[in-house]
Formats: sequence, C-alpha cells, structure tokens
Amino acid sequence: MQPRDLSAHATYEAGRGIEEVARELGRDPASFVTLSSNENPHGPAPAAVEALREAAETASDYPKAAHADLTDALADRWDVSSGQIWLGNGGDGAIDYLSRAMLDPGDAVLVPKPGFAYYAMSTRFHHGTLDAYVLSKDRDFAQDPDSILGTYDGERIVYLTSPHNPSGTTMSLDAIERLADGTSDRTLVVVDEAYGEFAETDSAVALIEGRKGFDAREDVAVIRTFSKAYGLAGVRLGYAVVPDAWADAYARVNTPFAASELACRAGLAALEDAEHVEMTVESVRWAREHLATRVEAPAWPSEGNFVLFDVGDGAGVASDLQERGVIVRDCTSFGLPGCIRVTCGTESETKRAAEAINAVLDARDPTPDRGDAGGAATDREVNES
Ligand SMILES: *Cc1c(COP(=O)(O)O)cnc(C)c1O
Repeated sequence: MQPRDLSAHATYEAGRGIEEVARELGRDPASFVTLSSNENPHGPAPAAVEALREAAETASDYPKAAHADLTDALADRWDVSSGQIWLGNGGDGAIDYLSRAMLDPGDAVLVPKPGFAYYAMSTRFHHGTLDAYVLSKDRDFAQDPDSILGTYDGERIVYLTSPHNPSGTTMSLDAIERLADGTSDRTLVVVDEAYGEFAETDSAVALIEGRKGFDAREDVAVIRTFSKAYGLAGVRLGYAVVPDAWADAYARVNTPFAASELACRAGLAALEDAEHVEMTVESVRWAREHLATRVEAPAWPSEGNFVLFDVGDGAGVASDLQERGVIVRDCTSFGLPGCIRVTCGTESETKRAAEAINAVLDARDPTPDRGDAGGAATDREVNES
C-alpha cells in the first residue's frame, strides 16, 4: 500500500521555532529570540485571549453561530456581502478553497519566484501545474504588471503577494488592475494581503467592489489572515474576499465549519480590539526602521513585518546568529541563498537582533566596506541609542 505519487510535492519549510533550535543546541528556549516566522511578538489581543478561555467551555459544540458571526463581522468590516467572505484554516486554508473552486486537473497556476511556498503546494494538491514569474533581486523585487504579463500564458490563477514575502515590496491597485486587464476572463488574480495591515497601499477589495475610482471586477480575490497583525497564527484563521458573482461556490467546496469555534471566537474578539492592531503596526514601523538603519547589510524597503537583508551567505549567517540566540529565516528555500529575512520583534528583541547581526557580519568579514549593493541599501546609522 502506497499513497499516490507525491514525489513532486515539496514539504513546507517553516521558520524554525525556539524549542527545535534550543533542543538541538542543548540550550534554554527562554534565551532565544525568534524572528523567523513573521509572528506578532506582542501576542494576541488581550480580548482574544479571554475569548479563547471562555470558548473552551463550549468547545464541544460545532461552531454554528460563531462561524456565521465572524463571517458577518468581516463582511461588515469590508462592506461586502457575507457570502463574499470565505473563512479558512489560516490564509492557507482560504487559498485551498480558491484552488478547489477554480482548478480542474491540469490547470496551470502562475506563482511569484521567490515567493510563498503554499501557492505551489495548494496547486499540486489540487492537481494543477505550476509556472513562475520572476521577481528579480537585481530589480529590487519590483512587481511590474507588464513583466508578469510577459510570463503569463493563460494560467487559471495568478498569485500576487502585496506586501510580498520575503522582500516586502507592494503592488499598487493601478498595477494590479493593469495586470487583471491583461489576463484572460478565465484567469483569477489572487492578491495575497497577509501583511496588508502593515502596508500603506490600499486593499485590492477596492478592485472587487469597484471603489476608489476603479471598475468592479469578477476576476480578483483577496487573501487575508489573522496570523500576522492580529497575532493569532496558532489558532489558524484566515479568509478570502471574493466577488459576489461566484461567492456561492464556497458552499460547494468548503470543509464543514472551516474555522473552529475557538478560532472564530478569538477572531471576533480580535476584530473588536483595534488598539492592539494599531500598537502592533506602530511597533512594526519602528522595528523596520531600526533594522534597516542599524544593520550593516543592504536591506530592501519593506511594507511587511519583516526586513530582507543581503548578507552574502544566508545559511551561514543564520547559523551564526543561532549560536548567539537569534533565530532568523535563511532564505535559501525561497531561492535567495544570499539573504536572511528578519521579523520585526519587540523593541528589545529587535535591538538585540540588529546587534547580533552586525556582530556576526563583522566576525565573518572584518573589512568594513559591506555596502549599498543593489541600490536598495540604507545607510548605516552611527549613533546607537
Ligand atoms: C503568513 C502568510 C500567509 C498566511 O498564513 P496563515 O498562517 O495560513 O494565515 C499567506 N501568505 C503569505 C505570503 C504569508 O506570509
């Protein structure tokens, strides 16, 4: 007995957690700072923690009311109909529902390279095939619609990530519209806004609904998650916002009660706590700036809760940092072996990370002219606070 041929299926490489690394090095997990998975260092909103405690009592029930309540609350927030909100087990779960709704076996999907691994995984699970468009490091990972259209070849889904993981670049709504206009009517453009709260750009929900001067359209869907700004990565809660025209497909493809009672209750409470999200976004803005200005390596301007650095040897630097108790993401698995991605931590975590990165870079290459490669680098600040 064997499963079907899964040899083409890559496994997901998550950023390494504290427990795993501490065990391997025989050290106390409390002595590490984990900045490898773009989690919220401030945790969930206090109200969400309380909601989780309370929901424990009703965990025996299917989440009938909670699922509907959260869907309605999100519909309210985006000013769309409830049917347009597709809850999922994380943003990843919502991506799966789009795959289920859209893909026939053999349909092709166009994904960014480098990019988020789950687009390809979900495509393979749903018997689709993959093509990739390149976001070039030499062009600072610019997301240019004409360049993507140059690679586009009638794929059924095109994934955009704005802000992009791991580079932090965004795509304007004008650019997304231009891309969607340039693809066939059969092509769905999925705009993954997992880091949308941290960005200055508007949500592509405006394209779906025809707001802000754009024409409404049926070929764009948006992915959102509670894992990042809302600090609820552990409960697995995300959703898609889809055009009303085919929103009813959800009922035909979803796993019953796609999001759990606990997730829905936590999500409802988290939505109410605007202050926690604002504090998180403020903290990320500070940390991005601190990392970009203090770390003595070229960085790309990021609109996410992370910064990508060009350090020459991502695996080596990540491993040296680990020795110093700082866990960052080696971007080799993204196809960027020269880079590390550093999540914005609390103030003290971020300061510690910046110092540790500089110490590691100094130890590896004491010559002081690591510079502004790629044109994206920020100048080093000399004064330490
Ligand atoms: C984190 C992330 C997601 C969603 O993750 P979930 O935890 O499944 O919600 C989606 N896309 C990108 C690019 C991400 O980085």
